[in-house]
Amino acid sequence: MPELPEVETVARGLATMLTGRRLVHVATTRGDLRAPFPKDFALRLEGRRVCEIKRRAKYILIELDQDLIWLIHLGMTGKFTVHPPRSPQPLDDPHDHVRFDTDDGAHVRFNDPRRFGVMDLLHRSELTTHRMLADLGPEPFDPALDDDSFSASLAGKRTPIKSALLDQRVIAGLGNIYVSEALFLAGISPKRLAGSVAGVRATRLLPAIRNVLDAAIKAGGSTLRDFAGASGELGYFQHRFTVYDREGKKCPGCDCNVAVTGGIQRLVQAGRSTFYCPRKQR
Ligand SMILES: [Zn+2]
Repeated sequence: MPELPEVETVARGLATMLTGRRLVHVATTRGDLRAPFPKDFALRLEGRRVCEIKRRAKYILIELDQDLIWLIHLGMTGKFTVHPPRSPQPLDDPHDHVRFDTDDGAHVRFNDPRRFGVMDLLHRSELTTHRMLADLGPEPFDPALDDDSFSASLAGKRTPIKSALLDQRVIAGLGNIYVSEALFLAGISPKRLAGSVAGVRATRLLPAIRNVLDAAIKAGGSTLRDFAGASGELGYFQHRFTVYDREGKKCPGCDCNVAVTGGIQRLVQAGRSTFYCPRKQR
């Protein structure tokens, strides 16, 4: 499942290729992804010019002229393939559900085998009221999110900190992977109640969240350099994690004997795996 850094990377890659371009030959191959496409979807996109491409939480927002905004969630398997100008028309792929060209001759395909992706069209005036955007909390890098406001959003919460961080109203864009990574970096147990993280621990956690996201976005930047100029895919990229999906492995920073301690532990919370070190995280 793409998380904030992957979505940021896709948005930046699309921005490089599409900003200033006009969309031509827009087509869908079916009526829906996870939900039906909005009415007259292709028709409304055709002829629009791309002004700017942004990210909000795990959504890509393609801002078009006439105050139209194309909202995209990649779901589980959504990815864009961009074939640069003067490249041949790509072969048909049955999972290319949205196809468009640009006025400079690039071919763009949205491929989503499992169809958990979401696309919608909204007017600029709906940016804070649209049902998918209305309840989102602050962006992790929003300067207005500081120790005090972060701490206040956790105060009194009797859910585990892991669940609180997945709550998009507390902080927008975090998913299972980077929550595990950030809690490890901050040395905070995923089982600890969110209310008890408010205060001094919150001042360790917020920079840890920013560090793990920043490192992953930088890693995405290096995949973008490979992408630029060549026809390439923009979607999930493989990244090395410190604790995520490393059950039983030795954790960095611990000199514990894995044969005795069991190494990094996996814990299931609200149906989702959390990876952590019970010695380093309290
Ligand atoms: Zn450890």
